[in-house]
Amino acid sequence: MDRIGVVGAGTMGRGVAQLFAEYGHEVVLVDVADHILDSARSAIGTNVRLAPLIRPQAPRRSVEEVTGRIRFTTDLKQLRDTHYVIENVTEDWRIKRPLYGELDALCPPGTPFGVNTSAIPITRVAAATGRADRVIGTHFMNPAELKPTVELIRGHHTSDETLVRTRALLEGAGRRHVTVADSAGFVTNRVLMLTLNEAIFLLHEGVSSAADIDQLFRECFGHAMGPLETADLIGLDTVLLSLQVLYDDFNDPKYRPCPLLRKLVDAGLHGRKTGQGFHSYEAGEQRHG
Ligand code: NAD
Repeated sequence: MDRIGVVGAGTMGRGVAQLFAEYGHEVVLVDVADHILDSARSAIGTNVRLAPLIRPQAPRRSVEEVTGRIRFTTDLKQLRDTHYVIENVTEDWRIKRPLYGELDALCPPGTPFGVNTSAIPITRVAAATGRADRVIGTHFMNPAELKPTVELIRGHHTSDETLVRTRALLEGAGRRHVTVADSAGFVTNRVLMLTLNEAIFLLHEGVSSAADIDQLFRECFGHAMGPLETADLIGLDTVLLSLQVLYDDFNDPKYRPCPLLRKLVDAGLHGRKTGQGFHSYEAGEQRHG
């Protein structure tokens, strides 16, 4: 079993850590503050406890078994002996870029870096390291421990060996994968972020309410969630940062973030993770807003 380094214990990192710990890997989960790691530990515990209700066919695992395989730490140096690193820090190049310099200096030269970004091109991330051939986009969906398929992004220099190794790691954790070429936002978020932004514009312009917009997508198109519920799940801060990456990368005004999105982010209403976004959330339950 590989020892997996997971950097960032927010919405995505905690799910990625849970997934690999559930499949028997030792995981080193790193974030910048103890209170974030405590929250990640508690969320993973809740998810493991609820797993039999959500995934009745999945093998039963105890909370102690899963969290016992995860080393929760604020010390990046603990990644020194990892065999594969998956990075899930804030979608901000000013944060990711210096981190990759540190990871490159710390981790064994053979350790591949899986980049869990919503939109930042993988070739750009790879250029911040001295191991561009071992950098690959591993775009997990949210929640990472439940979603069956991962979008893999091949950067300009990503080697066949890295691709094969990454696919094997994911298959070993019961995941499927689809591999795409490198482009900001890849396939999924080139389409999804525009859709979410347009739904926010509809609300902003008073064309419809948040509840009605979401109901239309659920009931007319059979989507599991409407676009505003999806934005709340992703995190409105992450949606805004992703749109900004797309806007800057393509220099195309079609990606301009809706002013209402900026306002909600400025107001600290980031969706599910803060309890309020387009809808209100209490203990995981949704009240339509
Ligand atoms: P988040 O804001 O919930 O969590 C980010 C975490 O990174 C925070 O806990 C923060 O403290 C931590 N962090 C910041 N700098 C760090 C550093 N130098 N070292 C260690 N930890 C650091 O964000 P998220 O939603 O989990 O997104 C993480 C990444 O995954 C982003 O690049 C995002 O675009 C991508 N992503 C998000 C989703 C989603 O639905 N939220 C889906 C797929 C991919």
